[in-house]
Amino acid sequence: MTVQDTVDLKDLVRTIPDYPKDGILFRDITTLLGDADGLRICVERLTAPYLDASVDAVAGIEARGFILGGAVAEKLGCGFVPIRKKGKLPWKAIGQDYELEYGVDVIEIHEDAIRHGERVLMIDDLIATGGTAEAAVKLLAKLDAVVVGAAFVIDLPDLGGRARVEKLGIECHTLMEFEGE
Ligand code: AMP
Repeated sequence: MTVQDTVDLKDLVRTIPDYPKDGILFRDITTLLGDADGLRICVERLTAPYLDASVDAVAGIEARGFILGGAVAEKLGCGFVPIRKKGKLPWKAIGQDYELEYGVDVIEIHEDAIRHGERVLMIDDLIATGGTAEAAVKLLAKLDAVVVGAAFVIDLPDLGGRARVEKLGIECHTLMEFEGE
């Protein structure tokens, strides 16, 4: 039996009730990232479906998508592109807004980060309502990227994010599910 078989990644995720506000169960992956076997297996499992997908770049969503996205890009032998909150990128950027519970937010990407037709894999730690991921797909479309897939460590299926992103024609790959919000 290998370590691969015995480590349950879900056991390495810490759940924090009422963070950042009442009623939210925050799924904290810092405990997973801090475990050597957990991190390695997590990156391997995120990468596995895309080994032969001719990925040109991995786009990671701020902030936990940077940690995982960088590692996945290294494994796939391609570059990494950050998608950041508005005003954080140093060069010319294009943006996409998306709705939050109260108000709107904007994510941005450097306008020269992806070349026309490049094949991009999107990575984030968790998909909840799918609002962030949908905005990222739209942002990448503005640069004429071909989004080959979207991979997340955690899916909260009750919030419908995966279905929302798959409605856009983007296949999602997730490593575990938690019920509820
Ligand atoms: P959404 O746009 O609703 O799919 O939310 C996804 C983003 O919010 C991801 O970048 C997550 O890191 C963060 N997020 C949303 N809900 C949670 C949760 N319950 N625990 C941890 N992170 C969350």
